[in-house]
Amino acid sequence: MARRMLIVGNWKMNGLIETAQALTEDILSGLSARVARSGSVRCEVVLCPPATALYAVNQRVGGSLVRLGGQDLSEFESGPHTGETGGGMLRDVGCGYVIVGHSERRSGWGEDNARVARKMAAAFRAGLQPIVCVGETLEEREQGRTLEVVRAQLEALFPCLPPQSDTRQSLVVAYEPVWAIGSGRHALPEQVQEVHGFMRRILLERLGEDGHAIRIVYGGSVKAGNAGSLFALEDVDGGLIGGASLQSVDFLAIIDAVPETF
Ligand code: PEP
Repeated sequence: MARRMLIVGNWKMNGLIETAQALTEDILSGLSARVARSGSVRCEVVLCPPATALYAVNQRVGGSLVRLGGQDLSEFESGPHTGETGGGMLRDVGCGYVIVGHSERRSGWGEDNARVARKMAAAFRAGLQPIVCVGETLEEREQGRTLEVVRAQLEALFPCLPPQSDTRQSLVVAYEPVWAIGSGRHALPEQVQEVHGFMRRILLERLGEDGHAIRIVYGGSVKAGNAGSLFALEDVDGGLIGGASLQSVDFLAIIDAVPETF
């Protein structure tokens, strides 16, 4: 079963409305030029600006081939949760996707596997496609616990997956080794394939055919220079891009690295 490659830009807590709009414009015109040149873009593109810029970015991307995503959501729909954003609110502002359980939230805000799973369920309830991040710390890798950690993070999701096939197939899993995020040190292709192949086997064991459709993207210091070798791997269905998504030239070069065959 062919899976459409997915490239997600995670802008994190960077940029005001004006810079977000300018970056969006640059990305959109770069993509339009590619469509004019070769008829299409080889992947789905999602931009995840800070919450304060979602509305403004949505004004620009509406009707284009770019989709909008949030960077986090509450596990609750509404109520006395000061500072939180519900999935319905993200839908309301134009999001189709939301990042869940990014390592910066797992480590900085104490989000454990159970809460990440509840947030994933909240995203599905709101009609959003969750991009759930998993990945080991450097210490866990050095202790030889990478697969054990990733398995536990993945297994926690299954009880919270919706029963409908088409909905659960829309899940995206992002393998983001914590030591590779923002460090300039990406995981080696063989390390990435080992973990992605391992997760694919778990998804197939637990979900049968639905496990084929779920996309597994890689994140962690992806740049134009390493994207090609990572995206060519059998079980890599795209990338979650942090730092390099803040410059349109870099982000577009990463999109160009998506292989022709997808
Ligand atoms: C991220 O924050 O999800 C990420 C992958 O960041 P970077 O590309 O900067 O490592």
